[in-house]
Order: sequence, then structure tokens, then C-alpha cells
Amino acid sequence: MELKPETPWDGTPDISARIVVAINRVASVLRAGMWEFATAENLNPTQADILQLLRDRTHGVRLSWLAVQLSVSAASASDSVAALVAKGLVRKDRAEDDKRATALWLTDAGKTLAEKQAKALGFADDAAAALDREVQERLLVGLFKLIAELQKTERFPALRACLSCRYFEANKFPGSPAPHHCALVKAPLPIAFLRIDCAEQEPTDPVTERRNWTAFA
Ligand code: SF4
Repeated sequence: MELKPETPWDGTPDISARIVVAINRVASVLRAGMWEFATAENLNPTQADILQLLRDRTHGVRLSWLAVQLSVSAASASDSVAALVAKGLVRKDRAEDDKRATALWLTDAGKTLAEKQAKALGFADDAAAALDREVQERLLVGLFKLIAELQKTERFPALRACLSCRYFEANKFPGSPAPHHCALVKAPLPIAFLRIDCAEQEPTDPVTERRNWTAFA
């Protein structure tokens, strides 16, 4: 039997496992910051998440979309939305694209509170901004690739990201530093400018979306 020499690092978990632990730790710190803010503003964590999901939306958002993003049932999302409506932070109105459906927007008071909430998590943005620009770009691309892989598991909720957007034109300028193109603003789109949550995003068809994410992974 061949005996391999032991090294002090034999018990080190794989890089993939340590990536997951690191993301989990960062998420815990962000969640703790969010809970601190929510408690001070008399919101529960789901209500605080809804404020962030509705922030900067130019179009109304459906309750079903919110429930998927929050990984909760439609009934649970509906309870949280009702509480936010009662607090005057969210308003319901007819959806722009279907007058029989209802959509949700932040009220002015809701927008003010959502801005305050974003500033409460500014410590994380400051930490990311302190990294070298090159490290920030590599990290962003790495996270996009991880999301692309996770999407294959079909556990990842729909994102309002460039790669899922009907205005995104993949690899329109192959080999250039800005290979992609946004047909909405009619401008080349460098990888460092890809959006993960764009207010103007409109979903593309499922086949194109899958092709874009698969090509990126
Ligand atoms: S920047 Fe916004 S509108 Fe343009 S491709 Fe990306 S998600 Fe779509």
C-alpha cells in the first residue's frame, strides 16, 4: 500500500468549501447590519428586505416576484406588504402592463427610509471600495460566474441583471475591452459595468437568458 507523507495542510477544506464559508460569513454580517436597522425602525427583517427590493424601481413590482426573491410564500409576502402599506411606506396600484393586476411601489416615505437603510449597510460598500480596482473587478466577475453556476441548479431567483435583460447584446464587439452592448442606452458595456440589479432591466426570453449565463459561466 502506498503511504503518502502527511503535511500540516492535509485537513484544509477545498477552496470551493472555503469560498462558500466566506460568502456565508459576509452574508451573516450584512444580515446582522440589516436586522439592527430593521429593529431600530420597527420593521421585521422581511419588511426591511422588501424596502430594498422596491428601491430604485421605475416600474411597479408584483407580489409574486417579491415572494420568489424573498424565498417565502405568497401569503407571507402579502402579510409583510400589508404591514408596509399600513405604515405608509408602500403603495399598491394597477400594474402598468396589465390593468387587472396589482403592482407595488415605495411611497416617498418608503423611498426615504430605503435610502437610510442603504446607508446603514454602507460599511460593506466602504470595505469593497477599499479593495484595488483590479481586485474589485475580478471579484465581481467571479461572483457573476458563481451565480451563473448556481442558476443551473434552478435554485437562484430571477435577477434583474444584464445577462437576463432583453437590451443586453452579448459579445457584439468580440475581443474588445467592452465586448457587450446595452441597446437601451446604446453603449458598449464593459464587463466591469455589468449590472446585477438594474432598474431599467426587462427580462429577455428564457432561451437567450440561459445562453447568456451559460456563456458567462
Ligand atoms: S444596463 Fe440595464 S438596461 Fe442595459 S443591458 Fe444591463 S440590465 Fe439591461
